[in-house]
Amino acid sequence: MNRIYMDNAATTPIHSEVLTEMMPVLTTDFGNPNSLHSFGREAKRYVDVARSRIAKALGCDDNEIYFTSGATESNNWAITGLAKANRHKGNHIITSKIEHPSILETCKKLEREGYRVTYLDVDEMGMVRIDQLLHYLSADTILISIMAANNEVGTIQNLQAIANIAKEKNVIFHTDATQAVGAINLNVHEMGIDALSLSGHKLNGPKGVGALYVHNGVVITPFMNGGEQEFGLRAGTSNVAGIVGLGKAVEINTRDIITNSKKLRTLRDYFIREVTKNIDMTYLNGHPIQRLPNNVNLSFGMVDGESLMCMLDLEGIAVSTGSACSSGSVETSHVLQAMGIAPDLAQGAVRFSLSKDITKEEIDYVVSKLVECVEKLRKISAMTKSQVGKED
Ligand SMILES: *Cc1c(COP(=O)(O)O)cnc(C)c1O
Repeated sequence: MNRIYMDNAATTPIHSEVLTEMMPVLTTDFGNPNSLHSFGREAKRYVDVARSRIAKALGCDDNEIYFTSGATESNNWAITGLAKANRHKGNHIITSKIEHPSILETCKKLEREGYRVTYLDVDEMGMVRIDQLLHYLSADTILISIMAANNEVGTIQNLQAIANIAKEKNVIFHTDATQAVGAINLNVHEMGIDALSLSGHKLNGPKGVGALYVHNGVVITPFMNGGEQEFGLRAGTSNVAGIVGLGKAVEINTRDIITNSKKLRTLRDYFIREVTKNIDMTYLNGHPIQRLPNNVNLSFGMVDGESLMCMLDLEGIAVSTGSACSSGSVETSHVLQAMGIAPDLAQGAVRFSLSKDITKEEIDYVVSKLVECVEKLRKISAMTKSQVGKED
């Protein structure tokens, strides 16, 4: 069966140019960058080049980039490391209700350790309430962490406005840009962003590698204790192949940002138009314009998203739902909940995240399958409803 992958917000395949650059490091050039001999020096050069590529893409200095095991680690480190290093200034952190669990759970942990955390609301399109940010900022606020773009509904935040407010109030601003790097233009120095998280496997790089940018002068406590790697802040032998792959992936994605995003936006909007034209009671979740070029999140009325996902999977189409099954009960997405989406529509939400290689023909095929599947599911749902009715 010809399979179609529409779950690029979950992970992406490695770009061929990325793999080509990684191969020597996985084979002949295996040195430890901390070794002083020629093997080590060679490995260090690979790491330096990758660091420099990422710095160039983000608009910062090389020594402001720290390699990690992925965005989960970068987020854990940013929140705890920045909060702890600035504890003497205050204990208040501001974030939003729609952040990735790696931010939310870290904040909850800090709350148990005596920090105060404010979780900002979002509007019905998933935009963080700037009025609330201004309202809740106080003399003891030390950190603001707001994601650049949401992984579920694709809404892109007004990062510049938030960065300006943070700067004016002298508060550190961190952003989880895992979905945004390589998709939208970001220049951390120009924008006044103090810290930023990113991950390899979300932008056609390898899994298990990411980076944290921290502006020089912003203090952060170390994350791993041990050797002197990553400027003494994140110990552990460097994942050289992963780092090389990450560097190349960030370089390629920022290089191709205009062509890719233009193509993706056209296909995304075509897909949304076709689905809403051919299937009634279909609603777009997230911001209609200020959204990731590859994100389509749709709620289908009278349809269970999980069932639709499974049906599409049988057709070889990979998508994901806004809900996660936990201990038998289906919990709706915290993002859709925060946006005030009605529970039955949140239950019917499906996320389609396109790759730049997807074709119009593939999209047409997905639309035709969607029409079939949604119709089937609605028939079943109507039947069970009428049966329940008879039992009364
Ligand atoms: C995927 C993702 C993460 C976690 O990244 P990993 O590298 O898989 O740990 C964090 N934040 C956002 C917004 C993501 O999409």
